[in-house]
Amino acid sequence: MDSLALLDQAQATHHLQEDDLLQLIEDQTINDALFAAADRVRQKYVGNEVHLRALIEFTNICRNNCLYCGLQCQNRAITRYRMDPGQVLHLAQQAAQYGYKTVVLQGGEDAFFTVDRLVPLLRQLKKLHLAVTLSIGERPRADYQAFKEAGADRYLLRIETTDQALYEKYHPGMSFENRLRCLRDLKELGYETGTGILVGLPGQTSRSLARDILFFKQLNADMIGLGPFIPNPDTPLKDAPAPQLTPALKIMALTRLLLPDINIPATTSMETLEPNGQIKALQSGANVIMPNITDEKQRRLYALYPGKNTAAAGTPLLYRRQLEARLKAAGRSVSTSYGGHVSKHSTP
Ligand code: SAM
Repeated sequence: MDSLALLDQAQATHHLQEDDLLQLIEDQTINDALFAAADRVRQKYVGNEVHLRALIEFTNICRNNCLYCGLQCQNRAITRYRMDPGQVLHLAQQAAQYGYKTVVLQGGEDAFFTVDRLVPLLRQLKKLHLAVTLSIGERPRADYQAFKEAGADRYLLRIETTDQALYEKYHPGMSFENRLRCLRDLKELGYETGTGILVGLPGQTSRSLARDILFFKQLNADMIGLGPFIPNPDTPLKDAPAPQLTPALKIMALTRLLLPDINIPATTSMETLEPNGQIKALQSGANVIMPNITDEKQRRLYALYPGKNTAAAGTPLLYRRQLEARLKAAGRSVSTSYGGHVSKHSTP
């Protein structure tokens, strides 16, 4: 079928076969039509509001060795830090004062943060009437259950790629099966579950990207966070080709067409590649932004990839005010609700 007809079909039915997705990923002549279609579907299902989530990067200590990531345990070029629970609570209090309704606690897989340390913190955070998202990697099901019972609402764990051979190549010592197990556990335990991928990993094919999107649908994901892979000079993938924004925007837009009512962030990595990257993403299917409220010094040490911190420079309050103005100028408003996934579309 002609690509524009496939776009019409996706917009109307929210279904595409793997080969259709492949065609749309590879056809560079339909990019503007794809972005416009995703923007219409976003508008129809989740409206013009943008949900802002305050991101706290609370530890850069990680036991894993993901070959693309600046936090990988073998990277000796960064100074490691860990916030104590009191500092996390203090930042969350500030987030609530700034008007945020959600805090996202993200970090490396740091053994210090046991259930016994995190559960009391989660209970304190819930007293602030905030929704809490965790993004702290792979844990046993019992840990996820304890965090849920203590009040965690959402969990972000990117599958990174559904190409198992590629996954295993870039995650030495980790198991693809365990990552899937984590995502299934999170879903079963009632978390709003977010996953996502890196777009542009060396060796990644258009077909594997098409399968990634079908995986999001099969998981019935509540959020999808995806972004361009940006080579980090302190990692083994330092010589990978220069990153590009358009391929990531395309996968994001196709995700919006197939999962029309989910939450999709315009990611920091998109803004890192282009000054207006996040606004472009909001006009191509995204409806969430996660402003970073981590203190400047620690934010700089949370060095996943180069340029990450210039994308959101300035104090958190000033950044929020400037962002609100930019969103208004782009015809979007800032949500005052918790902004959870409200299902308006069911997969038959
Ligand atoms: N440890 C947690 C986990 O595994 O989910 C959360 C922290 S991890 C650093 C957060 C995300 O950063 C990963 O899911 C990965 O996709 C992204 N990331 C890491 N290195 C990156 C790079 N070089 N370019 C773009 N994104 C990167």
